[in-house]
Amino acid sequence: MQNILKAYETVGVFILAILVKDVTKHPAFQNAAKSFANLYDRKLEPENREIMSFECEGEFFSSWFLKPKTPEDLYKRYETHRRIAEWTHGLLGRSPDHVASFVTGLSMKPELFENISDGFGQNIMNYYDHMRKNDIFACYTVLPPQGSRKPELFKREGMKVPTLRVIDEDDSGVTISGMKMLGTSAIFSNETWVGNLAPLGPDQIKESITCAVPLNTEGVAIWSRKPLEMFALNEFDAPLTWRFDESDAMVIFERVRVPWEKVFVHDEAEMSRAIYVQSPSHSMGNHQSNIRFMEKLKFIVGIAHKIVEANGAGHIQGVQGLLGQLAAWQGGLEAMIHGQPYNTEELVPGYINVNRRYMYAALHWCINQYNAVCDIVRELMGGGPFQMPADISVLQDPKMRKTFEKYWSVPGQNAVERMKLFKISWDMLGSEFAGRHMQYEKFYAGPGFVVDNYNYVNAPWAEWSSLVDQAMDCYHMPPN
Ligand SMILES: Cc1cc2nc3c(=O)[nH]c(=O)nc-3n(C[C@H](O)[C@H](O)[C@H](O)COP(=O)(O)OP(=O)(O)OC[C@H]3O[C@@H](n4cnc5c(N)ncnc54)[C@H](O)[C@@H]3O)c2cc1C
Repeated sequence: MQNILKAYETVGVFILAILVKDVTKHPAFQNAAKSFANLYDRKLEPENREIMSFECEGEFFSSWFLKPKTPEDLYKRYETHRRIAEWTHGLLGRSPDHVASFVTGLSMKPELFENISDGFGQNIMNYYDHMRKNDIFACYTVLPPQGSRKPELFKREGMKVPTLRVIDEDDSGVTISGMKMLGTSAIFSNETWVGNLAPLGPDQIKESITCAVPLNTEGVAIWSRKPLEMFALNEFDAPLTWRFDESDAMVIFERVRVPWEKVFVHDEAEMSRAIYVQSPSHSMGNHQSNIRFMEKLKFIVGIAHKIVEANGAGHIQGVQGLLGQLAAWQGGLEAMIHGQPYNTEELVPGYINVNRRYMYAALHWCINQYNAVCDIVRELMGGGPFQMPADISVLQDPKMRKTFEKYWSVPGQNAVERMKLFKISWDMLGSEFAGRHMQYEKFYAGPGFVVDNYNYVNAPWAEWSSLVDQAMDCYHMPPN
């Protein structure tokens, strides 16, 4: 933990027009920093160490760097992701196992990079080794800023498109300038993976740069959105905002030097996106996302159950019906995820990967159903959150405390326990933190139509069409 906290000290983050020099001590970020650091501590605990690490040539590394060759390896990866998600209720989308899984998947197919330029294959292998050896926590910034995708508009106004591009290069490396969105957990990361998950046109070749940049490099600035942790009144009233605001930030690069060793794609518009889907990268990273969502869903369904019990509504058939619906959804998603290590794919000879179709189906379900899940739980909550006093300071006044305990307690649950439940529920489903999660679950894997497309392109259309052909071959046109 000390190491990771130390690394943060050198990172500069702008919020509210203030430069935050140490995110581990600033009220906007310190609790979330601890939550991330806690993951590094917990994975070393005796009951987690065996699953969450693996041995290679006498050294131990985090399991999210494991290149899977056997079903046991896939299970190790699954269970590692699951434990992290369970400890954080699925609220840290960009936990350290996310981007690391993408990079591990890329390093399983170095020839993709070698075909782009001599030496790039070795670069990705070396970067993987560097991440694995130093347990690097990386975020990724793989989209141009919103609004910059119509370069012709900028040209017309005589403005420069603000998106990141290579502005210079020499024997030692490239110089990049511009902005990227949207570095979730950039504030807590050691490095950012810079790249492109949206397709680029041939005229955007200088934007195709894909590289790794330590976030304390000269010229890098992290511009945070409103940090919600800072506005949480206290832990009791907003326990999730208090601890798990992973944050999102625009990352600006002003004349940042990147040595060639950290460059993986250069002047190759098509490959800057294709590397993720032509290697196991996309399936490994999004498998983690699926598992994270599954744990979050369990937590939300648990909230729903506790709320109806607290309200004495658990015996009502209609209420049980809604809980049943949530349980069915949760079970369905869990099954979709548990199916992924079956019917595995050999995307790279010698390695096995989770089934991509099942993974994309789960991804599709998650991004499209999150709102519906939350809506049911909010329906079950009724006006509960607003029956509670403004905050827990009510207990400090003995007279008010007595009144609160007298009127708000119900059989089997005293007023404070009840308030605690409604506060955590509202934080999960109704607060500003909850609203950010609504948006995150919709967009973290790209816009919905892109996720539709992943499902479309990976479907066995020929096989399905042939079923219809076979059926039609069994009968003939009626004679005239
Ligand atoms: C909370 C949060 C965290 C994020 N974290 C990260 C991160 O860690 N790293 C990272 O790189 N990115 C991250 N993102 C960015 C995310 O990948 C993008 O938000 C997403 O790809 C959508 O892009 P956009 O926001 O620019 O929306 P736009 O592309 O502007 O789209 C806005 C809307 O228009 C629709 N639309 C646009 N074009 C079309 C089209 N051609 N056809 C049909 N509909 C269209 C979209 O579906 C969407 O509904 C994050 C986003 C959010 C909200």
